Amino acid sequence: MRRAPFGDSMATMRTSILALAVFLAALPARAELRASASAIDITPDTKTSKVWMAGFSMNRRATGVHDPIRSRALFVTDGKTRVAIVVLDVVGFMRPHVEKVRAKIGEAADYVLVASTHNHEGPDAMGIWGPTPFVSGLDPVWIDATIEAIAGQVKALAAETRPVTIRAAQLEGPVKDFVCDHRDPVVIDNTLSALQLLAPDGKTVATIVNWACHPETLWSDNTLLTADYPGYLCGRMEERLGGTALFISGALGGMMTPDPLRDAKGEKLRTHEEASRVGRGIADLAADALEKAVPAKEPGLSIRTKEILLPCTNPRFQIAMAMGLLSRAIFNADGTPFTGKLTVKSTTWVKAEVGVLTLGPVQAALVPGELFPELAVGGFDGSKAFGADLVKKDNPNPPKVAEAPKGPYLRDLLDAPVEMIVGLANDELGYIVPEYDFQVNAASGTLEPHPPGDHYEETNSLGKETAKRVMGAFGELLAK
Ligand SMILES: [Zn+2]
Repeated sequence: MRRAPFGDSMATMRTSILALAVFLAALPARAELRASASAIDITPDTKTSKVWMAGFSMNRRATGVHDPIRSRALFVTDGKTRVAIVVLDVVGFMRPHVEKVRAKIGEAADYVLVASTHNHEGPDAMGIWGPTPFVSGLDPVWIDATIEAIAGQVKALAAETRPVTIRAAQLEGPVKDFVCDHRDPVVIDNTLSALQLLAPDGKTVATIVNWACHPETLWSDNTLLTADYPGYLCGRMEERLGGTALFISGALGGMMTPDPLRDAKGEKLRTHEEASRVGRGIADLAADALEKAVPAKEPGLSIRTKEILLPCTNPRFQIAMAMGLLSRAIFNADGTPFTGKLTVKSTTWVKAEVGVLTLGPVQAALVPGELFPELAVGGFDGSKAFGADLVKKDNPNPPKVAEAPKGPYLRDLLDAPVEMIVGLANDELGYIVPEYDFQVNAASGTLEPHPPGDHYEETNSLGKETAKRVMGAFGELLAK
């Protein structure tokens, strides 16, 4: 036996290194995550065009710009799947527009998610906040330019990814002085979750923050375009951690709204100082948590989606569709193109998409509208009321909480260290109201006046069956 020139120990070490190399080669190649991100300005020109602001009443014309309306986008790939996540500072971006963005992006991405923050201080991106009920508030020139700009943004990002690691965190967010619930029962999904993608040089490529509250701090008298608190939130994230920040609105339906501080007379302060306080306050909590988070070991990326049909029984929506204010394809119950005569009494069906996106330790439910927080977390026992009465003592028509759904709720179905609920994902179908508390004034073509108590949200909802059909689809997508 020939003796090894450097003795047995070195030979053993070589053998071990060889064995290790063989072992490593036998392991499946670890996915390398790559990402890129950018924010672009999509603010309409208030000087050269009439810009109608969305979210409160019609005929609110923008008189200028306080801060930009943006498209914030993250492109991420694990080498197999390429996903773009786009968030717009608008009230809602309907599926037909999302499909146009996707068509223009073409092969550059396998899946494109376009969500809206649900900003009530931005341009009408849907068409129902024009000067009169008969005139669309959506500027066709601006929406076409915006679709083009988003597609260009994503295609540019696809060509400039770099390796990243991911870390993520989830915590209980603040309630008092930040968010409150205007509709009984008081249930607040105060989950605050965040992720950060870091390049090898330690610099941040992107962050995402997910929290649930209507972006409407400036309220209905404001006529200067602004991104409201999410703009301040993203600015603060970028100030603290660098990179491009995205903010995703969660289960903000029924009726999560900012809880601004009050002036000496007790009036809520509808100011940029308050929007900044809310946005920066949430950002600081998210950034603190991310700074303590450890990099994830498994940076996998996957997407599953399901197309569903939802019945629309809302006469306001039928009128808006008949007049072309809400332009989207409508169907019969079997999914064939709608053939009947469209009247306020019609039941039409619309196609929508729900999905589950997994990125490392984060699992995100893609919800095509404004999910009521009780469908996300339950809380019918008062455990999510944070000191408020579950039902107001003077509510003339209180919800029958004993008949509320028993779950599982959306966060029970999700199963990951960090959960996100992406509200207004690829669509804005309005409020997703739990069936047990769905009440409308069916005798009225406008659904107004709505039944006593808290039933405004039903007037901006497809109908009674949306919640169970959306939740059923998530049950199938997330079946264990
Ligand atoms: Zn809303």
